Amino acid sequence: MTKVDDAVRALTGTRFVALTGAGISTDSGIPDYRGPDSPPRNPMTYQQFIGDEAFRRHYWARNHVGWRHMHRTRPNAGHRALVRLEERGLLAGTITQNVDLLHQEAGARNVIDLHGRYDRVVCLSCSQVVSRALLAERLDALNPGFAESAGAVGDIEIAPDADAVISATSHFRPAPCDSCGGVLKPEIVYFGENVPRARVEAAYAMVDDADALLVAGSSLTVMSGLRFVKRAARDGKPVVIVNRGVTRGDAHATVKVDGGTSTVLPELAERLPARGAAPR
Ligand SMILES: [Zn+2]
Repeated sequence: MTKVDDAVRALTGTRFVALTGAGISTDSGIPDYRGPDSPPRNPMTYQQFIGDEAFRRHYWARNHVGWRHMHRTRPNAGHRALVRLEERGLLAGTITQNVDLLHQEAGARNVIDLHGRYDRVVCLSCSQVVSRALLAERLDALNPGFAESAGAVGDIEIAPDADAVISATSHFRPAPCDSCGGVLKPEIVYFGENVPRARVEAAYAMVDDADALLVAGSSLTVMSGLRFVKRAARDGKPVVIVNRGVTRGDAHATVKVDGGTSTVLPELAERLPARGAAPR
């Protein structure tokens, strides 16, 4: 009896929700800042971004160089397995802590981007939302040649992270909101910032409507994800966790599979029977 056998058994007959984190995207080349193999990082906080203009300049300089790498990333076997489960009606929807949109790119239909998405920018004064691609054109115009000359940065600045150092960002010119001149911020939830209430409620509703919860590739370090595990466990629903290494939700797990999502999720998708049928 393997752990995957247990996971198949726990999820058989249920319509479940997936909660995903950075671990599902590492095989697409997006670094997991909290994984067991990751160097310790010092996450940038919302307060730093709001309160420090120099910090903001540095952030936008790195983001301007790094964000375009996101276009080169592709969904992996883990994302695709979840799509197959959704198409078969076994997976009701996905709550993701990732901002990379790889679930949607793989074909997932019902996705809640809990921590926002990398392809949008919001004005902190007037709340106008613009696409990151449009902002890139404006940043290029304000900082001709910067993105090209900064090719040695070599770090994807998508996850809010303050550690990596690049020089020559002090002359970078961030773009203000073109409607009101306010401060622009990626539409990403930072450390120290709350997930918008309506989004949290939508995610709770998705969990409440489902029979079980499958956590895939998250160490559940932050409460923004852990609370859905607690909710499902409180209601007596099976909680299956697939992750490399320990998670903060392990005590609530019905089954814990210590493994990578790219291998375990395809196996689950292969073996989970149609609802009403016996497990394979
Ligand atoms: Zn504005």
